[in-house]
Amino acid sequence: MVGSFMSETLNCSSPSGPEESEIQANAQVRVDVEDIVRILRDKPRHAAGELARYVLQEHHILNYPIPITSIAHSEKVQIETTTLPFADGALIPSADGKGYTICISDLASAHRWRFAVAHELGHFMLRRMQSTTRLPNTLVLNLSKGVEELFCNWFAAALLIPDSAITDFPTWETLTIGRMAERAMALDVSISAFARRILERLPHKDAGYKDTGAMQFRYSPLKEDANASPFLLADAIFYRLEGMRKHVGMRIPHITVLHDVLARTYDRTYRYGVTTESLYEAIPLGFTSLSGQYTILVKPLGGTIWVLVLPQHVDLNLIKQMCKEAAKPEYTQIALFP
Ligand SMILES: [Zn+2]
Repeated sequence: MVGSFMSETLNCSSPSGPEESEIQANAQVRVDVEDIVRILRDKPRHAAGELARYVLQEHHILNYPIPITSIAHSEKVQIETTTLPFADGALIPSADGKGYTICISDLASAHRWRFAVAHELGHFMLRRMQSTTRLPNTLVLNLSKGVEELFCNWFAAALLIPDSAITDFPTWETLTIGRMAERAMALDVSISAFARRILERLPHKDAGYKDTGAMQFRYSPLKEDANASPFLLADAIFYRLEGMRKHVGMRIPHITVLHDVLARTYDRTYRYGVTTESLYEAIPLGFTSLSGQYTILVKPLGGTIWVLVLPQHVDLNLIKQMCKEAAKPEYTQIALFP
């Protein structure tokens, strides 16, 4: 599927329905490289977004998925898939010193491959800015190794998931797992990458937004222990709960409401083929620091189950309406503790 964003307007067609929606994006202001270099040190995240916008403008990219290979090739950067033991990708200067090759691990999945090329292109753009800017090189060179890596991740996310392709996700009320999956597919990025990009733009600061985020669970039964929960946390995307990352890989406790919800979803999916999105209102999750009551959206996707933890003050009627329009899901309000 191909979506397009033509200067000020983004068009996207939904695979679940014949209707096309047209969304007005903010007027695009041309990006100047030297402005990016000026803000690079103090606002690297903002600079990364601006650099991605600059690359899309320079290459006249009007459609998504973003053609990352042709962007690299028109920058005269070659791409090789090869054996890389310790990384997804690397930027290698060519022997004659005139160009660069991006090497990507042959173990990378299709989505990781695209993200790794975009990340290495970020390193390349930094090198190119160093050699072409009329500003002092120190402004660019001063990025520490750690900040440069973060910069390239932010750049890759903003390049593959441009602002103009996600203007219709402005609030928590516009977010459903089904909508995220649909747009991630259209952009040819992973749902994890898409969820990170969307969630970082939504409010998390007020008290009612403290525990908001997304979790991905994998079904992985332990043959030797029939009592262990078969669900383990495969990804955790939270902005106010930094500690959630350290629970990735952990099995959830067997005696929790979250386990019941996941088991029910798994059962419905694999026994009856039900893949619709379910809304559970004000249930205790009983998992890690998510100890209060939460309203969650749950949907099985690609052999995993995604859980979106919504803010306390979210307008549930808007979410239900959004889900119904997007995928005609079956809504369930299940009393686990009657
Ligand atoms: Zn890197």
